[in-house]
Amino acid sequence: MNAGSELSCRVCRASLTRTFVDLGSAPPCEAILSPEAAEQGEVAYPLHVRVCTECLLVQLPEVLPADEIFTDEYPYFSSFSTSWIEHARRYVESMRQRLGLTSDSFVVEVASNDGYLLQHVAQAGLRCLGVEPTANTAAAARERGIETEVCFLGRSSATDIVERHGRADLVVANNVYAHVPDLDDFTGGLATLLAEDGTLTIEVPHLMRLIELRQYDTIYHEHFQYYTLQTIARALALGGLAVTDVEELPTHGGSLRVYAQHDAHASEPSAAVIDLLAREKAAGLHDLEGLTGFESAVHSVKRDLLRFLLDAQEQGFTVAGYGAPGKGNTMLNHCGIGRDLLAFTVDMNPHKHGKFLPGSRIPVLAPSAIDEAQPDYVLVLPWNLREEIMRQLAPSVSSWGGKLVFAVPTLDIVDPASTAVAATSPVAPVIQEVAR
Ligand SMILES: [Zn+2]
Repeated sequence: MNAGSELSCRVCRASLTRTFVDLGSAPPCEAILSPEAAEQGEVAYPLHVRVCTECLLVQLPEVLPADEIFTDEYPYFSSFSTSWIEHARRYVESMRQRLGLTSDSFVVEVASNDGYLLQHVAQAGLRCLGVEPTANTAAAARERGIETEVCFLGRSSATDIVERHGRADLVVANNVYAHVPDLDDFTGGLATLLAEDGTLTIEVPHLMRLIELRQYDTIYHEHFQYYTLQTIARALALGGLAVTDVEELPTHGGSLRVYAQHDAHASEPSAAVIDLLAREKAAGLHDLEGLTGFESAVHSVKRDLLRFLLDAQEQGFTVAGYGAPGKGNTMLNHCGIGRDLLAFTVDMNPHKHGKFLPGSRIPVLAPSAIDEAQPDYVLVLPWNLREEIMRQLAPSVSSWGGKLVFAVPTLDIVDPASTAVAATSPVAPVIQEVAR
């Protein structure tokens, strides 16, 4: 736990003296509440993000221990999102071709969740292993035939895994590298798992996009680091790993897929790496001043959303929410929005129905509640699935003259009846927000 008065950087150990953004305090964003729990108290933890003045890593101090977040009953199953499964399928196909993986190859995925990605590896006839700290998702992976180790990755657990399974030609760490407070030990674990000439790929949200698109609601207790390519390279160096290539992806509002290898075996950084580093520098992300002007943008998002909700209420319009992602809770709690301003929200995930959002106590209902209530406005919380949700909601919401509302990057009120997406809407896919 790193909650003393003297906070230090996870990469370079310098004192953390500068604020990136201070969102006050909030309960854990994935701790959705049962009706009984909603009558009890809950603990709120600070969401005060710092930027290291030495290495520029943007980081949230670990005031809420990771093992209290990723428990045996982690409420998030990747397989509820069809778009996420498709992303995983394309990733596996692309890696097979790029790395020339064969039936002799061994693939390890860290934070493998319910096997949503490794199922494609197994189907392709490759040997694979999942490493996952949450027992319930690991059990779901095993049920679909994916061998899974239940543990947090570090140097010691990685050594144990290598002794029993060997080193991996491909180590996959998608959407986990932001979630590890012990960055040094985790990075050492990744390096330990990786064969001498193996490739590691990491997907993380890109801080450049977070700042550009004001995605401050992606800040929550599960996200300990917010990376640029420059700072992820500095973090990987903790394990003797070097960045060789990078791709920019649209997932989570703008992510990086970073390729790395052991330093001694790494190829020269690709043109894409050089280019992205140059763009980050031009955007001011390689100096402290460029990283410390974010708070005013956050305050502007908050003011606009609150003004809209208060005006809607005064004018007698009804507003319901769509989605119950972690990011929604950051925003709702930071803005102080409760049931008085947002009567309920809905979610595709049946595990969340009949429960209440942490902090705000806003009820989570099945999607059919939107059709029954026919609200004048639907505030869409998982903006990163904007197009998918527009297609899904447009036919019904436009039938009663309702409008869709997005809060970031700036408040946007969309009349689905007047957009092309409504006219051509196909049968809605099953969607559910991807929380990690
Ligand atoms: Zn540092």
